[in-house]
Formats: sequence, structure tokens, C-alpha cells
Amino acid sequence: SRKSLKVFIKRNLFVLLTIVAVALGVILGFALRPHNLSLREIKYFAFPGELLMRMLQMLVLPLIVSSLVTGISSLDSKASGKMGARAVVYYMVTTLIAVFIGIVIVIIIRPGKGSRDSPVVSSGTIEPVQAVDAFLDLIRNMFPPNLVEACFKQVRWTVVCEMVEETVPVSGSSGGVNALGLVVFSMCFGLVIGNMKQQGQALRDFFDCLNEAIMRLVAIIIWYAPVGILFLIAGKIVEMKDLAEVGGQLGMYTVSVIVGLLIHGLLVLPLLYFLVTRKNPYSFIGSLLQALITALGTSSSSATLPITFRCLEENNHVDKRVTRFVLPVGATINMDGTALYEAVAAIFIAQVNDMDLNFGQILTISITATAASIGAAGIPQAGLVTMVIVLTSVGLPTEDITLIIAVDWFLDRLRTTTNVLGDSLGAGIVEHLSRGELQSQDAEVKNSVIEE
Ligand code: ASP
Repeated sequence: SRKSLKVFIKRNLFVLLTIVAVALGVILGFALRPHNLSLREIKYFAFPGELLMRMLQMLVLPLIVSSLVTGISSLDSKASGKMGARAVVYYMVTTLIAVFIGIVIVIIIRPGKGSRDSPVVSSGTIEPVQAVDAFLDLIRNMFPPNLVEACFKQVRWTVVCEMVEETVPVSGSSGGVNALGLVVFSMCFGLVIGNMKQQGQALRDFFDCLNEAIMRLVAIIIWYAPVGILFLIAGKIVEMKDLAEVGGQLGMYTVSVIVGLLIHGLLVLPLLYFLVTRKNPYSFIGSLLQALITALGTSSSSATLPITFRCLEENNHVDKRVTRFVLPVGATINMDGTALYEAVAAIFIAQVNDMDLNFGQILTISITATAASIGAAGIPQAGLVTMVIVLTSVGLPTEDITLIIAVDWFLDRLRTTTNVLGDSLGAGIVEHLSRGELQSQDAEVKNSVIEE
């Protein structure tokens, strides 16, 4: 009836608007393609999309810090320890599954099979990165020596840095923060002020209030999101090279990554969610649509973070104590899609070079792909940069990253969407597993109110 239709539209207004925006963006993009716009014209045209990206990025820093500090300080240290352990186990298990799926698929499909006449072997001029070096770098970044600098400088791969600049055009993404360092700091800070009893009250109130204010800003920006998404998508379609050119090996490589991401995102993760919670994973995913589309449009899990928060809290009613804790950490270190893609890309490049990988090397690739996904910032094409670690760890030529650059913008969007999906389902799973602690804390709060 009319009334229920109205209710439906009202409830799903933003999702509907976002879907309409995507459709319009695609139509507009393809309609403009034949006009061969100049780069400058494309930039002007995509401007509303760029604005959305900037607005979302603007919120990321205060959002990460305030949500983690309030999230953790509102839990007692035992509860937050347990919740943290569950989250970390979930992140690790799902990332490893993703890497495994990627490896199996790229070995079965063999997109890069024997093609190069003269195999290129590592140029040998650069010292290969050892997996250990990469891990040390990762840990270094968790402890930024300067907090202020961490707010505007991305994670630095000291070992990798010099090489990267020569081989990969490090995407000049603005708005990069060392989220890894900020996450670690905010968690410790939250833990400490949570234990400070009365003395810490002022700080707890401050961050709580800051978090609330940021979420209100998100609620405003969300009105602009459909417009921004429309232009982000249309702009990219106008700008992209002819897809027909992507044939042969690169095409098969693209297919391998897509198949892997689909299996992981639409089968494995939902199954895991179902097994743990016994709830319908697809209706959970349906309520996330807006975040997923934003991930597709922005190729950045950090920029999507504000929308992910809203979807989970408003649509899926996940407990705030969980989202505040699990989402910022997830957006920073849990990147299933990126891990899968790193493994596929490295093995693809080995195949192109006719290099047979033994079991040990495949193991090394799994480990470094995991490290590379943890270390990759949640910004566009960050995974391409950390690719260097995976390649050099098994002596593959880093120059060959150029082989996959042409399709990376596209795969980046898909893996970012998978990353956001993994974080969100993770929040649902952790909430389910932590319901005991959450309830007992609710009871405690009630009791103390009654006592007063
Ligand atoms: N763009 C991805 C993200 O933000 C990271 C990557 O490049 O893989 O999640």
C-alpha cells in the first residue's frame, strides 16, 4: 500500500539515493566519453566528487582518535582485552583465508603463464627487502616518534621507500595520516584514562563529546554523499582508458582478482558470519550498501569509515562500544581484499617471468602479503606501493609492477569494497561473541545508577 511504500522509502532513503546516484553516474559517464574531454575538463567535471572525498577524509583523523579513546575507556580493561583479542583473531583468520583463496585461484587460472621470451630476473641493483625488515617497519610505524607528524604523514616504509619512488608513481593522495600509529596511541590512551577513575572524567567527557560531534557532522555530509558519488563514478568512467585494450594476460589477471574477491566477500565471509551469529549475513550486508558503494566510489577504506560507522550503528544497530573499537582498527589493519590482491599479483608476476615458485616462496608471499595488507594505508592504491615488499621478498623484479598498473584503479575499488565488508562483518561477529561482557557491563551501570 501507499503508506508502507512511504515508510520503506523513508527508511531506505539514503540507500535509494545512493543507488540512483550510481546509475546516473554510470549513464552520465558513458554519455560523456565520446566527447573526448581534455584532462582539465575532466578535472572540473569530477570536482563535486573530489569534494566528497575531501570532506570524508577531513573527518577521519578526529573520528579515529575520538571513537577509539571513548570506545576503550568506556569498557573495563578486561572486557576491552577480550574484545580486542577476538577482533585480532578475526582479522588474522580472515586475512589468511583471503590470501589462501587468492593463491589457489591464481595457480588454477594461471593468468600469466609463460609469455616472456627472456625472463627478467631481479635487476640485482637493489637489496631485496627481507620479510623481517618489512615487519620491523610495520612495528616502527605503530610508534610514531612525533604524534603531530603522524597526523599528516602516512605510514613510512623506510626500507622500501627509495625503491618505490622509482618504480611506482606513489599516488599523491592527500589526507594521509599514519593511522597505524594513531590507532595504537589512541588505544593505549583510552585504556589509561579508562583506569583513571574520577580523575580521568574530564578527558573521557571530552572525547565522548568530540565523538558525538563528529558523528553529527557525518550525518550532515551524508546528504551530500550521493552527489559526490555520482561525480566520482562518472568522472572515473570518462577518464578511464578503453577497456577493450585490457585483453590477454592482464585481462585474465583482472578476472582472477575479481573471482577471488567475490568468493571471499560473498561466500566465505558471509558463511563465517552465519556460523558464528546464526543470523542472515546478506540482510546485514544489504544494510551496508551505502558504505560499500562509498568504498567503490572513493577507493579508500579510511574515507569510507564515517559512512561505515553510520551504516553499522543506524541500520544494523551494532553496539557502539563495539563499532567504536573495532571499526577504526579494522579500517587500518584489516584488509582482506588487499591481501588477496597482493598474493595474486605477486604470483602473476612470477608466472609472467616464467619463475616457478616453490612451497617456501609461496609461504613467504603469504606472509609478506599479510604484512603488506596490514601496513597499507586505507587510501587509494596504497596496496600497489606495499606490493614492493611482496615482490622483493621472493626476488621478483619490482619494475614489473608497471604490468598491472593499468587495471589497478579498478581492482583497487573492488578490493577496498571487500576490505570494508570484512571490517563490518567483523564488527557483527565481535559484537555477537562479546555479548556476555556487554550485558554484564550494562547491568553494572544500572546498579551503580540505582545505588546513587
Ligand atoms: N585502497 C585500499 C583501501 O583503502 C588499500 C589498497 O590500496 O589496497 O582499503
